[in-house]
Amino acid sequence: MTMSELPPPTLRLRLDTDALIGNWHALDRMSGAAHAGAAIKANAYGLGVDNVVPTLRDAGVSNFFVAHWSEVPAVIAHISPRQLSVLHGPLHEADAAFAQETGVLPVINSLYQAKLWLQSGGGPCHLMIDTGINRLGISLEEVGDPLVAQLEIDVVMSHLASADEDSELNALQLSRFSCASRDIPAKSRSLANSAGIALGADYAFDLTRPGLALYGGIPRSEMAGVIRQVAHPQAAIMQKRELRAGDSVGYNAAFTATQPMTVGVVSLGYADGYLRSWSAKGALLSGGATLPLLGKVSMDMVVVDLSLAPHLREGDWVNVPYELLEASRISGLSQYELLTSLGPRFRR
Ligand SMILES: *Cc1c(COP(=O)(O)O)cnc(C)c1O
Repeated sequence: MTMSELPPPTLRLRLDTDALIGNWHALDRMSGAAHAGAAIKANAYGLGVDNVVPTLRDAGVSNFFVAHWSEVPAVIAHISPRQLSVLHGPLHEADAAFAQETGVLPVINSLYQAKLWLQSGGGPCHLMIDTGINRLGISLEEVGDPLVAQLEIDVVMSHLASADEDSELNALQLSRFSCASRDIPAKSRSLANSAGIALGADYAFDLTRPGLALYGGIPRSEMAGVIRQVAHPQAAIMQKRELRAGDSVGYNAAFTATQPMTVGVVSLGYADGYLRSWSAKGALLSGGATLPLLGKVSMDMVVVDLSLAPHLREGDWVNVPYELLEASRISGLSQYELLTSLGPRFRR
């Protein structure tokens, strides 16, 4: 038996490619003389590598970043392997061999990784130095190590811990990076993520690495009004029903109707990334009408009040408000979590 084409989905994620391109140009401009690359890890922050990567490539992006080796094949279907870096670097010999085979550049984060890379044959790589976040990266003391001297470093980079705040750590990391990277024979230098770009020209160096803001996130107020929403989730109404006064809705009967009302059961649940933290706080939208959530979010559905949009029917699409700053405020989730939790059942 051959499988015929899939029936229509009940969840879809519209990607506003104009906004994506516009956001990259805005970030590239804010990066001054530096080139803005693109962090596309975690399936381009949940939006889909197959849509995001070709769009950014055609807009002019030439440096892309993923975290895992498993993310490489889907990306190099669209760009040259030399334009892709793997932030986690090699943990096993097989990772270094995979980098050699594909031509993707590893980010070297420790002397252990430097050794692995050199043993696999070496060649161009990037180097991450830790300037205060204490995650991945060689320490400032290790910068002068003979292993580092043997590396063929394309980009030397570091990562800011608190760029989304006015923290003293920003200037401290900047000065540490400026000093330490001066002694490293790299072709170019890179420090700023999305928020770091808004800290000013000093932070841009040669290459910036925005992720969140490309996809509509606003990590600092300087970016409000510049960055536009990219992700627009929509879900279909599966069933309409009439409640009587006293009827309750969903698990644990968390909502009880006090009067007769029309409700809609919508194909959107926490398995799709619409987490329980939206329960009793969120609302879906249809045209200008607000459709408040009733009761708890289930795995595969939510129930909404259709009082303000009684014309809606089974099969109609409703909008999931996803303006990230506002959605974050309401749900208590970070803008990053809101994007990266959008599940595979969304047709992208
Ligand atoms: C994820 C990541 C970025 C992008 O950060 P945003 O805050 O999303 O702009 C940049 N650099 C590194 C090392 C990262 O891990």
